[in-house]
Amino acid sequence: MLNIINWPRVRAEKFHNFLPEEIRSYLKGRGIPATIIERHLLGWNGERITIPVFGPKRQVLGFRYAKSPTDISDTPEVISDPKLDAQLYGAEMLARKPYRVVICDGEFNRLVLEANDFTAVTSTAGADVFLEEWAPYFEAVKHVYVCFNRDRVGEIAAKKVQSILPRARIVMLPACALDVTDFFVFQEKTRLDFEILLASASSDENDPSDTPPTVREFRPLLKSIRQRAEGLRKGVKLHDIVEQYATLQARGQRLVAHCPFHDDRELSFSVYPATNTYACSGCGAKGDVVQFLMDKESMTFSQALDALERFEFTYEIYGTG
Ligand SMILES: [Zn+2]
Repeated sequence: MLNIINWPRVRAEKFHNFLPEEIRSYLKGRGIPATIIERHLLGWNGERITIPVFGPKRQVLGFRYAKSPTDISDTPEVISDPKLDAQLYGAEMLARKPYRVVICDGEFNRLVLEANDFTAVTSTAGADVFLEEWAPYFEAVKHVYVCFNRDRVGEIAAKKVQSILPRARIVMLPACALDVTDFFVFQEKTRLDFEILLASASSDENDPSDTPPTVREFRPLLKSIRQRAEGLRKGVKLHDIVEQYATLQARGQRLVAHCPFHDDRELSFSVYPATNTYACSGCGAKGDVVQFLMDKESMTFSQALDALERFEFTYEIYGTG
């Protein structure tokens, strides 16, 4: 007997096997590498790029069809199966209870985020359609972010999501980036850049651990050295330095990591972009960008200043790079 339940999946695989090389390289050029194409069974139906929409149990619910790069008609960029009602593209990822998720706008943007290791979902019916019945999917997710296109429509849509998921934090893309793909692919921003955006996302909740530590700065007597130190404390971003030693991720308005000063199984180490300072709740280390290098690289104060000045040009800390 023909197994009817399986057939959308079979169709997805058939389309996937048809994906021409030039469409693969087009997708790669817009930040969707081969691993993501395979994982999400992107395909080709002879006219459009096929995007299977999976349900929470990874069953194929239907398809979205994205315009071919050679199609110059004024048809919509992405169209839906007539049979496919509004779905949450990425619902199968939420079933795994990730600790955080980014709600974005558009299937390709979601895949670009995933290519950069951010779990993401999107509505298949546009940013302005977000159903209340999706709220339970997010219950087990600790941190929910909304990152829509930087325009009026995106702004209103993000507020709408927040009215359904009040703890969702709204992430603002920088002025140079229209959307997530633009941010990562055309503006060549990094994963860390996006973590910093997440950490500066607006929030209604007042998390006391978001408060930066009080750091006592070493102030040299000589005015010229003092001015050099002050310039570097402002000019060099601590997260760029720490990223050389540990992987940072947004948590509230901080960036957290395994502490580079002690054997840390938790994420005890926090960087506060607002003040350019750090603190560890495990070993008690805290300080600014100069202190970090003095402690981590056993540098003297003036060696640390030299290293920071070089870092501004080379993005390397000597002794490590
Ligand atoms: Zn520590």
